[in-house]
Amino acid sequence: MRRDAGIADFLAARILMVKDQLERRGIRDPRVLDAIREIPREVFVRPEDCGRAYDDEALPIEFGQTISQPYIVALTCQSLAIQPDDCVLEIGTGSGYQSAILSKLARRVVSIERVPELADSARSRLRDVGAANVDVVLSDGTLGLPAEGPFDAIAVAAAAPEMPSPLIHLLAAAGRIVIPVGRRDVQELLLCRRNPDGNLGRQKLCDCRFVPLIGRHGFSEDMPDAADNAPCN
Ligand code: SAH
Repeated sequence: MRRDAGIADFLAARILMVKDQLERRGIRDPRVLDAIREIPREVFVRPEDCGRAYDDEALPIEFGQTISQPYIVALTCQSLAIQPDDCVLEIGTGSGYQSAILSKLARRVVSIERVPELADSARSRLRDVGAANVDVVLSDGTLGLPAEGPFDAIAVAAAAPEMPSPLIHLLAAAGRIVIPVGRRDVQELLLCRRNPDGNLGRQKLCDCRFVPLIGRHGFSEDMPDAADNAPCN
């Protein structure tokens, strides 16, 4: 797409993206598809990447992080089966794109980001798109946010070596969590659900590559990144 594209071009690209990248791959939840049709992804990418806003890939944002691939955002949201009255916790605000989609699906969204500059710019973009029910909190998301729980759904947008135990404790009865778990360079996207007996059922959604979750129950900051340039989800 041209870098000087206008609102109508972006809208057309977004509608095509929903059809070609999402519906074709089995995303069927009409609320998720509508939310993605409504949120302008070009607002959340770097200005120089506007022309690639609707490409089928994650894109770089500041501080070596990424805005997730649209399909992965859609799969995460659909798998979480978010209801209009739900409270959702997101770990890894990044650009704020997924937070904006979640804001259309849930009553309230709390999103945790560890990089102050990313939290600030996400807050201002979320204001720009009118996502008034999202609170962006600066913290280590692997610790959860005990004062705020329980949550009906938790979306983790960075890769963890294993499920951070504080997050499990924040799940409401029948709560769901989607989280990439595995090595620093490659992971499995898991959907886990709190069963009536209190145990956590888990289901693999797909293989994936996310940037690392850095924190007390995540990867350590000083470990070198899996220094290849393969794109992350
Ligand atoms: N869904 C986001 C993708 C964010 S990339 C989007 O659509 O833009 C993952 C984000 O997780 C990065 O911004 C990174 O800084 C953040 N992150 C990594 N470890 C974290 C932690 N322990 N707590 C909160 N955020 C974390």
